[in-house]
Amino acid sequence: MTIQDKLSRVLNNLHEGVALVAVSKRHPASAVQEAYEAGQRDFGESRVQELVSKREELPEDIRWHFIGHLQTNKVKQIAPFIAMVHSIDSYKLLAEVSSRAIENHRCIDCLLQLHVAAEDTKFGMTPEECIEMLELGDWRSLDGVRICGIMCMATNTDDEQRIVSDFERAKETFELIKRRFFAAEPSFAVRSWGMSGDYALAVQHGANMVRIGSALFSEE
Ligand SMILES: *Cc1c(COP(=O)(O)O)cnc(C)c1O
Repeated sequence: MTIQDKLSRVLNNLHEGVALVAVSKRHPASAVQEAYEAGQRDFGESRVQELVSKREELPEDIRWHFIGHLQTNKVKQIAPFIAMVHSIDSYKLLAEVSSRAIENHRCIDCLLQLHVAAEDTKFGMTPEECIEMLELGDWRSLDGVRICGIMCMATNTDDEQRIVSDFERAKETFELIKRRFFAAEPSFAVRSWGMSGDYALAVQHGANMVRIGSALFSEE
């Protein structure tokens, strides 16, 4: 199957209103180009170096999403162009993205990364930590970022019940945060969860943005 075929297959499985971020990490720029030619514009990368060098070879109108763990000292490399940072896991990182955005005369869309999975290796804030950060309120004065929603990864397991409960936890947290802090802001609307193995469940349980890599780019 070509990348174009795989892309159509995935898009056919997504209903209207669900955005696809094609995760191109560890796949060459030529693979991104192929998906681009089939019409895909949103791509996700999880390492700064790989993203920066790929971007140089590829069309300017690609919207790049940063989905991996982001170190504060690397923010400046992506601030000039990144479309969305999915992996905000601390106030400190959010503040750094904001200052680098302002240096570039930009405002960067950000998602708060929730830790809902069973593994303790996954990054992100627990729902409680996330709410605590928002309650402190300092983020309100950060002019270089716009908080647009929530991102999470489910537990890496075959147990569908566990995956569903992770997504439901993220969805409840999204709704609570929306009510408490962003009720007046329609831009707080993104629920980024679901990957190749669990995106069908993800969209049944609240996702409106999925991040899919291997189902598009890996050999089968
Ligand atoms: C790699 C990755 C994905 C995509 O995973 P696939 O299983 O290849 O679809 C999604 N989100 C994050 C944060 C990732 O690192």
